[in-house]
Amino acid sequence: MTGPTSMTGTTTDWQQRFDRRIMRSMAMPLAKLDHGRGARVWDADGNEYLDFLAGIAVNSLGHAHPVFVEAVSTQAARLAHVSNYFTSEPALELAERVTRLSGAGDEGRAWFGNSGAEANEAAFKLARLNNSGGARTRVLALVDAFHGRTMGSLALTGKPHMRDAFEPLPGGVEHIDATIRALEAAVDDGVAALFVEPIQGEAGVVELPDGFLSAARDLTRRHGVLLIVDEIQTGAGRTGEWFGFQHEGVVPDAITIAKGIGGGFPIGGLVTFGHASTLYSRGQHGSTFGGNPLATHVANAVLGEIERAGLVENAALRGRQVRARVEGLDSPLVAGIRGRGLLLGVALAEPVAQLVSNAAMQAGLIVNAANDSTIRIAPPLIIDEADIDEFAERFTRALAAAAAAL
Ligand SMILES: *Cc1c(COP(=O)(O)O)cnc(C)c1O
Repeated sequence: MTGPTSMTGTTTDWQQRFDRRIMRSMAMPLAKLDHGRGARVWDADGNEYLDFLAGIAVNSLGHAHPVFVEAVSTQAARLAHVSNYFTSEPALELAERVTRLSGAGDEGRAWFGNSGAEANEAAFKLARLNNSGGARTRVLALVDAFHGRTMGSLALTGKPHMRDAFEPLPGGVEHIDATIRALEAAVDDGVAALFVEPIQGEAGVVELPDGFLSAARDLTRRHGVLLIVDEIQTGAGRTGEWFGFQHEGVVPDAITIAKGIGGGFPIGGLVTFGHASTLYSRGQHGSTFGGNPLATHVANAVLGEIERAGLVENAALRGRQVRARVEGLDSPLVAGIRGRGLLLGVALAEPVAQLVSNAAMQAGLIVNAANDSTIRIAPPLIIDEADIDEFAERFTRALAAAAAAL
């Protein structure tokens, strides 16, 4: 077979256009989506889907939320972009908000860019500044980690199949296993920073081992190493706390944020704590679009609505309900469930996650294959019990269809 084919086997017009004109770096999409409302989206043929992926943990308020729509339109009509020569009230307010929500407090500082990868680039440069006069040349990240697709963030990413074609990458990065033993062997005075995700979303919603983050905090503090927590997927309330590290009672040196904080508007950022806030000096980093009034106003509105509507608590509550429903499913394909709040991974008994996610699409449910044997669930934080009922019904049908196709 040559050209692209849809799930039903017929090549459609949009698939041909995609195949012809979109960069070959991108896999063939599952559908051409047209519009959305709440936790639902519709494709260009009018098919409705329950969106339990939310653009990979991005659409915190769901689709076309009135607060989001109002924020984009009023700020676009007022002031969208000013360059780094100026600041604006929304940028100042967002810096104050994210330093407050993260607990970075009075010593906290924030820098804004436009994506997760760019946030991790800023964090990587921060790590280079923690060099103790050149003595610290190593940077640690975890095996299977995902930190982005730009050269620096790719250097931090621990997935050979994403990296190999793009070597040589920025140097000094070593990937270690997510074990306390590996930490103890690797962390010393020659290390500038350790990067960790509280839950490895792209690796298949894999949680850190118990005690790992606090052991990492102890060791890094003892050796002057920055503990940088990538909260790009776990932040903005998704796990049932504002940020994933807050479940563990540790205080990091920096966190990176993106995805859910903009609710669908592109924005990313670096938040520093304590001494790490003193490392950058004027002129050492910037971004033309970064921190512009449009993006920062929308992020303020999204985070403000998450706060006002109690969506962090809702993520915890709905997460428990989704988990209970998945645990109650009577399917031989379901082996278990991992994750926290509304970032969950259904472990499958066989490596058929792609088959299951395709069957889910056919049943009107968007989830994704985070790896060969894990289905990722990351719905908008606004979901209610009726959405979960519907999810359970459609997911049950998808599992049955997948099991029948085996
Ligand atoms: C998505 C993601 C990134 C990269 O973010 P982009 O906005 O796609 O550049 C980095 N780290 C984690 C943990 C992510 O989930």
